[in-house]
Formats: sequence, C-alpha cells, structure tokens
Amino acid sequence: MRISITETTHPSPKPDSSQLGFGRIFTDHMFLMDYTAGAGWHEARIVPFGPLTLHPAATVLHYGAEIFEGLKAYRRPDGAVQLFRPVENIRRLNRSAERLCLPRIDETDALEILTAFVRHEQDWTPSAPGTSLYIRPFLFGTDETLGVHAAKSAMLVIIASPVGSYYKEGINPVKIMIEDQDVRAVRGGTGYAKCGGNYAASTRASERAEQQGYSQVLWLDGVERRYIEEVGAMNVMFKIDGEIVTPALTGSILPGITRMSCIELLKKEGYPVSERLLSVDELAQALESGRLEEAWGCGTAAVISPIGELCYQGIKYPVSGGAIGPVTQYLYDTLTGIQWGTKPDPFHWTYLLD
Ligand SMILES: *Cc1c(COP(=O)(O)O)cnc(C)c1O
Repeated sequence: MRISITETTHPSPKPDSSQLGFGRIFTDHMFLMDYTAGAGWHEARIVPFGPLTLHPAATVLHYGAEIFEGLKAYRRPDGAVQLFRPVENIRRLNRSAERLCLPRIDETDALEILTAFVRHEQDWTPSAPGTSLYIRPFLFGTDETLGVHAAKSAMLVIIASPVGSYYKEGINPVKIMIEDQDVRAVRGGTGYAKCGGNYAASTRASERAEQQGYSQVLWLDGVERRYIEEVGAMNVMFKIDGEIVTPALTGSILPGITRMSCIELLKKEGYPVSERLLSVDELAQALESGRLEEAWGCGTAAVISPIGELCYQGIKYPVSGGAIGPVTQYLYDTLTGIQWGTKPDPFHWTYLLD
C-alpha cells in the first residue's frame, strides 16, 4: 500500500494530561482514503487535520450511510505504544460496512493503514495513568445524488484524540435507567453494526435519563421490551447466583470487543459464563431477592464500568451496595493491565507498534 504523507506546517503543542477529557482535542494529522466503484480504494493519505469538503447531496448527509470504530493506543511503561486487538475492530468495520452497503476494506490493507497512521501520530499518546490515544476510523457514502442506492463512492477517515482517564476520582459505580419506551435497535435492523444511525435513535432516551440523574440507559429488546440488550455505548454483564450472565448476540446488540475479551478472561478463570436471553423480570427478581451480586458495563471507553443502581419503572434498585464487586474489579484490573502493558498478555491481544 502506498500512503502519501503531507506534514502539517502548524504543529500544535501537546495538551496537558489533566485537560484531556474525551474527544475534544485532536492530533495534527488525519488519514483519508477514497473509494469509487470500479477503481476500488485509492489515494491513501495522511494529511494535516482539518475540515472535510462534502457535496451537499452526499449520501451520508441524507440517508445516514456512516459506520465507525473506536479503539485506543496505550503508552506502555517502557514508552512503547500498543493497540488492543485492532484486527477485531477491522473485522467489525467490515461487518458494519456489509450491513450498510458501504465498501469493505481488505483486512491486511486496513491494518497497514491503521498502524501507519497511529505510528505517525504516536507522540500524541499520553502517558499519565488511565490516559490513551483514542482512534476513531469512520467510513461514509459520498455519492453526489439524492437517489437511494448502495454507495458507489465513499471515504474512509481516521482521526485520533488524546483522552483522559475515564475515572478521575477512582472507579465510581454508575446509575443506569432501564428504558421501557424508546428502543435502540431491532433484530434485522442495524443494532449489530457500529453506525451513527443507532446513536441518532438512542439520544432521546439518553438525554431523558441524564436529566433524571442517570448516566446511561439500559436498552430492552425492540419487539417485546422485555429482554436486556446493552447499555448506551457498552455491553452489559451481571453476576447472578454465581453465574456471569450477558445477553446473547441476537443481532440487535453491538458485539463489543471488550465484551468478547471479558468472556474469554472469565472462562479462562473458570467462571461459568452464560450468553443467553435475560428478561427484565428475571433481573428484577434477582435484584429483589438479593441474588444479583454484581453488574457492570464493558466497552473501550470506560473498559469496565460498575453499575451501582438500576432504575426500572420508577423503582430504584441498589446493586452491590453501590460499591464495586470483586469480579468487576478483577476484570478492570486484568484488562487495563494488559492494555497498558503492566500485566502479562497470555492471549496475545496487544499489538506493539515498532
Ligand atoms: C462500541 C460499542 C460498544 C462496545 O464495543 P467495544 O468494542 O467493546 O468498544 C457497545 N455498544 C455499542 C452500542 C457500541 O457502539
């Protein structure tokens, strides 16, 4: 693959790690590549970070043909920078592309692009505890017509943002509202694809929950509003009667790489893990009878987010006495240890940039 590089003439100073937040500061460059039916992907280039120019009829602006990924580059104690299971993000990007009729990218080329871009921007990877360089690849249709068709032209963009520790004051359990009105996705829809449209559909409920003091919503299935799906931008897991239960990937749930990694870690440790349907009634009963021992969300941004309270139809249920449970803590420590290179990586999940 040939990737042309145009260096910025105005490099920005690196931010202070105490001022990072999430996705507000961007590195000096971005990666761009164009797709045209017939010609395929072409003009891979790293250019100075800046606005994109789009035709006002571009498909993405009218019909939401957009997919994205989210992964992080981590600064190891020895100063090197590594990624976490990047090939899984590439595979998921291609599965999302297939669902939205956007062009796929050869896996080897995509890994080459991703690593070349992150290597070019790696000085932006912060080193303070819990900080990382968040990488956001996104792909969208750019056909210059209002007709509705599979994209014949598209663009892949990768931007990167140094992000702060998700937990500035230690890991605080979050309050989650179980949403029983809006739905995020239905089977047969785009729930399993990481696409912007899923977020457009979910924002109203998230805003309502936030106004009531909840950090995210827990989605129920779109048909019966009965089965637990996932939390905002995270998958969800519960420990009920000693068993780890997480909703099965039925098509409306995003198949998280953190979720998959948690399952692999837990199985290796000998925990019984069950991927199955979990109804909100079963969950409420487990809460009422004290059999729900722990609950947590898992995703790239927060890694592991303990749930300290669930609210369903106006009833507030405390979880783990509002504290972080031992399995939640184990997953957090192990995953972050592997990601930041402070613990051994027996699964070979990390990808070291040379
Ligand atoms: C990205 C995402 C997740 C988490 O996936 P990871 O690969 O673990 O980061 C979960 N749910 C939704 C809706 C997401 O967009």
